[in-house]
Amino acid sequence: GDRTVRVRTKAHGEVAELADAFNAMSEQLESTERQRQALIGDIAHELRNPLGNITGWLEATHDGLATADPELIDMLLTESVLLQRLVDDLQDLAQADAGRLRLHPELTDAADIADQVAAAHQAAADERHITLRSVTRGRLPVLADPTRLRQALSNLVGNAVRYTPAGGEISVRTWADGDTVGFEVTDTGCGISAEELPHVFDRFWRSDASRSRLTGGTGLGLAITKHLCEAHGGAVSATSTVNRGSTFRITLPGAHVRPAVDPHRSG
Ligand code: ADP
Repeated sequence: GDRTVRVRTKAHGEVAELADAFNAMSEQLESTERQRQALIGDIAHELRNPLGNITGWLEATHDGLATADPELIDMLLTESVLLQRLVDDLQDLAQADAGRLRLHPELTDAADIADQVAAAHQAAADERHITLRSVTRGRLPVLADPTRLRQALSNLVGNAVRYTPAGGEISVRTWADGDTVGFEVTDTGCGISAEELPHVFDRFWRSDASRSRLTGGTGLGLAITKHLCEAHGGAVSATSTVNRGSTFRITLPGAHVRPAVDPHRSG
């Protein structure tokens, strides 16, 4: 409900300014509280599905209405893996919010990261008859937390695999431009409409199409990727055409090995 506290005043000058500042603060607090409530609602909603399925199947087995055959075990496993991912993702986001998501940056090769992430998704791509390749040339040094950078890129490649139909193609590229090192994940998938594109990095946002389809997503992957890129001093962006495909780009500040400075020379 609308319980925002507002100060009404006919005052001028400093008192009016104070009242305005107070009212702005009050509105900000209320909107933060609304966001918090919406987030908890979203979390409950997302947990309910896999948990409900697991409980339902276990009850049916318990009551002798279903048998614990390999197919059923597979279904239970899929649901519990999804639950696990949801909880892991939520923990990452909670740590990010609290400023407790610690990065351990080291001199890392972006090309290595791209190759590793592509390799990790190769089996899933093969299974779906999608061609996945990494196109990397030479070393691209970045100062980054390799585990977190792999996670950020892996979310993009995982999505590309998930939202690309059989016969499609996915490429993971790396590039460098001046002081910037970049990753680019291009797919020939279902794409994202112009109206939906601005929302893809929001928590729990999923297109209507991906909601209705059983894609096994959590709606948190891109929010986490965005946070991780920004925590590295970089950014993530996307362009897309419906039914043609999408390109997601990560840019990071490159690590430069600067020439040693001679303290006896000025300038
Ligand atoms: P999810 O776990 O649902 O994939 P994400 O945060 O990773 O959550 O992505 C949010 C939504 O953005 C997805 O549900 C999907 O609708 C859309 N999306 C993300 N990546 C792609 C892609 N490569 N192609 C088409 N749609 C995508």
